[in-house]
Amino acid sequence: MYSACALITVFALAGSGLTDYCYRGAAGDAESFTITGQPTWAPRSVEARVRPVGGAAGSMGIVLHYQDSANLYLFLYGTGSTALRIYRKTAGTYTLLGSTPLVIPMGEAHTMRAATDGSGLLGLYWDDVLRLSVSDTTFDAGRIGLRVWNMTADFDDVLALGADGSPLFADDFDDGNAGGWSAGSGWTVVAQSGSPMPQPVFDTSFEGGNVQVTLVDPPTWTVHVTPELKGTSPYRAWFYFRMSNLSPAQPTNMVFQDVAFFTRPYYSYDNVNWTVFPAPPGNMYSVTFTQDLVWIAHSIPYTTSHEQQLIDDVQGPHVQTSVLATSEGGRPVHRLTITEPDGLTGKQGVWLVARQHAWEASGSWVADGLARWLASSDPQAISLRAKAVVNLVAIMDVDNVVLGGSGKDQAPIDFNRDWRATPHWNAVRETISGIDAFAATESYDLFIDAHCPGSASTFLYVQPESMVSPQYWLRFEEFRQILASTAGSGPLPYNGQYSELGPSYHPLWNQISLWHQYVVHSELELSLGLETQTSSRSGYQSLAEGIGRAFDDFLPDETTDVEDLAGAVAVSGAALMSPQPTPFRTATALDIVLPQSAMVRLTVHDALGRQVRTLVEEIRPAGSSPAAWDGRNDSGFPAAGGVYFLRLHTASRDATAKVTLLR
Ligand SMILES: [Zn+2]
Repeated sequence: MYSACALITVFALAGSGLTDYCYRGAAGDAESFTITGQPTWAPRSVEARVRPVGGAAGSMGIVLHYQDSANLYLFLYGTGSTALRIYRKTAGTYTLLGSTPLVIPMGEAHTMRAATDGSGLLGLYWDDVLRLSVSDTTFDAGRIGLRVWNMTADFDDVLALGADGSPLFADDFDDGNAGGWSAGSGWTVVAQSGSPMPQPVFDTSFEGGNVQVTLVDPPTWTVHVTPELKGTSPYRAWFYFRMSNLSPAQPTNMVFQDVAFFTRPYYSYDNVNWTVFPAPPGNMYSVTFTQDLVWIAHSIPYTTSHEQQLIDDVQGPHVQTSVLATSEGGRPVHRLTITEPDGLTGKQGVWLVARQHAWEASGSWVADGLARWLASSDPQAISLRAKAVVNLVAIMDVDNVVLGGSGKDQAPIDFNRDWRATPHWNAVRETISGIDAFAATESYDLFIDAHCPGSASTFLYVQPESMVSPQYWLRFEEFRQILASTAGSGPLPYNGQYSELGPSYHPLWNQISLWHQYVVHSELELSLGLETQTSSRSGYQSLAEGIGRAFDDFLPDETTDVEDLAGAVAVSGAALMSPQPTPFRTATALDIVLPQSAMVRLTVHDALGRQVRTLVEEIRPAGSSPAAWDGRNDSGFPAAGGVYFLRLHTASRDATAKVTLLR
């Protein structure tokens, strides 16, 4: 099921500068050249250290006056001919100009020099001794190079001297590369020992893994990577990979290319504890990794295994885990429902969803932190559990989270543009209907959609002030001030910032979660988006706790004594029981439940939130007392068929029940 699997090996990341490198050519039945220099070069000599490595019937050597691969001089040692030979190649045809016997063992290094006097005399030196001399005037200038055929050979310390004896060209390959050479197939720079040069191994064969390596430059230990496009999102936003076979203490320079919504990345030696990269001078991050294996990610990854760990860690009487939806890929989308297990209904309802955009792992960390805090014995967490039911979805787009896709603007529709009458994605559809079902039996007060788009600060999204009631805006002002006080400090502070999300934000603005919920559930106190920065684990945890405390401070108390709750003695607030029957045609009845006698008002609202009827406006006694609705409005006319909400208002809190009228 988990298909993210890629093992990427890149050639030749240099080790320390102490390593002696050489240039290895390996060829089969087609000769292979590597060439450098200019067509106008007329060197007096070209010298190289040469070493046959393998291939008993091939040849290797130096190229002089190279016009092209069909016109040149070759100075060769043949393992099959066991001879030194000088050839002219003209229009692709070899002409043997001279030959002299020589046998050397494989693996033995010697010095070979191709020389000319500039007027047609060609000489082949072996270990500084002239072994072969011929005359030919076909070519008098050209590029220089190395050549192998049917064998493997190492070349090092290439030196070309000009007509006046001064160096024209030199390369000892100890920078770890063959820059300036134009090589055919089979040419690589290797350590002088003959073993392959150290090279990093990139691995993304784990959940959420993603990287595309675009360049490895050994001499400077520079690695360029970019996110791979996975899934159907056009954004290269998420990367998460393992890099091994490093040389500890060698600074690695990393360039993260074409990363959408880029922020400082994180690295880890154990895939658990993460450190943010040091701020770069430009776009080049230089880090001296102290171990030979490192994980690197856009931000601290949060995968389904983290979610499973959360579910395991918080399980207990306060927490119910259920499968809200099954993704298109067959994976569960989990819902955690956290409340005090006191059997009370009519509590205030909170929904927080995260990770509609798979690359925004931080949203899941906030949901995770909130769940952990809510399940704790913190008195304020107990208080919130007593008066509220908090529903958390830590991973909405589970398929892209597993795949390592970014998910943003994915085809056919972005998760967060899919909040509409007939959603495309299972997770969105089932979350909407799960919330609807919840709202039908419980009060529904707060909706929050957690994102982390790599913004420079942490802020809330809210409907534009011009489009909401003054009362709604006042409640928003109250919430953001509370949140700024409960989450204003710590490594990931919320400083009270917000942004208004309306028609100018996006063409599909009214299919964004917080708008959809705001419109469909008029009973909501607030429907908001949360945009966090990337941060550390403790940053996410402290922000999540601040959010939890803000929920508790914001939602009216229905409890009288928090200390009592620590002993699991929950105190109920005002509540509405479910209307019976529903759906109904002529009348439906329900009980109002009060902890003490109180002034109450019970009103009926249509699906758009408009009040159609006041049913009760009087002091009611403690305990249960009945109420009923005959399906008529305040003018006595039958109300239209549809969904209605019965709202109980008291000085301390509101409660809502849902009923369906049939016509
Ligand atoms: Zn987002």
